[in-house]
Amino acid sequence: MRVLILGAGPAGLTTAQELRALEGRAGVQLDIMLVSGEPFPPYSPPAMADHFTTGNEASLYWQGTDVCERLGVDYRCGVQVVSVDPQTHSVALADGSQLDYDRLVIATGSRLYAPVPGYDLPGVYNFKSLTAARDLVDHAGKGEVENALIVGAGFIGVEVALMLRSLSLGVAMVEQRGWVMPNVLDQETAGLVLAELQARGVEVRLNTEVRRFVGEDHACGVETAAGDKQTADAYLAATGVKPTVDYLDGSGLEIDWGVLVDRRLRTNLPNIWAAGDVAETWDRQSGQRFVHAIWPNARAQGQVVARDMLGFAADYEGAERMNSMKHLGLPIMAVGEMEGEAELRWRRGDQLRKIFLTDGRIVGFRLAGDIRGAGAYRALMLRGTDVSDIGEDLLDPRFCLAGIAALAAAPPEAPIAA
Ligand SMILES: Cc1cc2nc3c(=O)[nH]c(=O)nc-3n(C[C@H](O)[C@H](O)[C@H](O)COP(=O)(O)OP(=O)(O)OC[C@H]3O[C@@H](n4cnc5c(N)ncnc54)[C@H](O)[C@@H]3O)c2cc1C
Repeated sequence: MRVLILGAGPAGLTTAQELRALEGRAGVQLDIMLVSGEPFPPYSPPAMADHFTTGNEASLYWQGTDVCERLGVDYRCGVQVVSVDPQTHSVALADGSQLDYDRLVIATGSRLYAPVPGYDLPGVYNFKSLTAARDLVDHAGKGEVENALIVGAGFIGVEVALMLRSLSLGVAMVEQRGWVMPNVLDQETAGLVLAELQARGVEVRLNTEVRRFVGEDHACGVETAAGDKQTADAYLAATGVKPTVDYLDGSGLEIDWGVLVDRRLRTNLPNIWAAGDVAETWDRQSGQRFVHAIWPNARAQGQVVARDMLGFAADYEGAERMNSMKHLGLPIMAVGEMEGEAELRWRRGDQLRKIFLTDGRIVGFRLAGDIRGAGAYRALMLRGTDVSDIGEDLLDPRFCLAGIAALAAAPPEAPIAA
């Protein structure tokens, strides 16, 4: 049986690994082909900033550069898929050739989402892929770039700002909202991130909406909603990500923001699955359809696809909202909702703990400075344990380590005692 996997990010590679691990038990022999639009071995996007700062390749090529050889997977890199034809069970490539499949996995991840005119001008960079990141770093390394302007202070924008500072560039960031990382952090936690960015020499301009990148054949500035023009030697669009679905037009696949899938991550067409940032699954807590574009979700979805394809039980539990910031110096953890009916809060200097509760249950939390207990909070949140009797003790790091860990490990029906 020929399995064709489009995309060699964590979703695609995990699918291939899991298929190989299970095929013996399933009593089949698979012919697996993995396709990537980029000319690199399968890599980890979260490891890119560290790679360009320290030169570390081990975490960038997280499964080793020879992973496909070891798996016996036919890896085609630098190959762009331009369309999918479910009638003929084939996909067309940019060079005019085609690849056939018996089973198809759509794992083409996400790309830059930039609803700002001029984002595609030469001189506007992004950090969404290794190809794009290399472009930026090569350009910055030529000595022509002394300062950069980053549009968007989300997760990726903040990560790139820190990386460019470590390469000794002057960095300014503009953000349309009133605080940094507004999609994942509440204003108070974001204030700690802002202070850390400023301490590292990043100039952050909040409440500043960029209307467009300015330039004829090369970017030479950004124009803000207030009408002023801001300039730099290089510009970076960090305005969000969007599932890579353009090439699926006309395929008959149902697509909303991402490719729609059922509980087994099957698409509406037979023998086609989707996993990772490209798949529109659902939030594990609220059940609402959503794309939570993070690494653990991509890996978990790759596993579900492989299991289902080989006939093993595979019900996807839903995507989690979970972000952690490693490069800031101040550890940050953001999980689940950003508010609830009630809030527990503890702060000492730049150490902050906030737990959001609804109906006595944890629906989200934000930790800064000291992220101990995050795993236990998450476990309580996912199992929907009623923690109302515990109250403020939940905020005590000592309680986190012992009490919550015990609670998280207890059977669901066990009584709660603080
Ligand atoms: C800078 C950065 C930092 C991040 N940090 C974190 C983090 O700390 N924690 C976290 O959980 N998540 C993080 N993420 C998000 C995480 O990397 C993604 O959620 C994850 O990589 C998604 O995996 P994926 O396999 O779905 O897609 P991707 O990793 O995006 O891989 C998609 C693959 O599809 C290929 N492709 C796309 N279109 C085509 C086509 N037409 N033809 C052929 N191939 C194609 C691409 O070349 C690529 O190989 C970060 C992302 C970035 C960019």
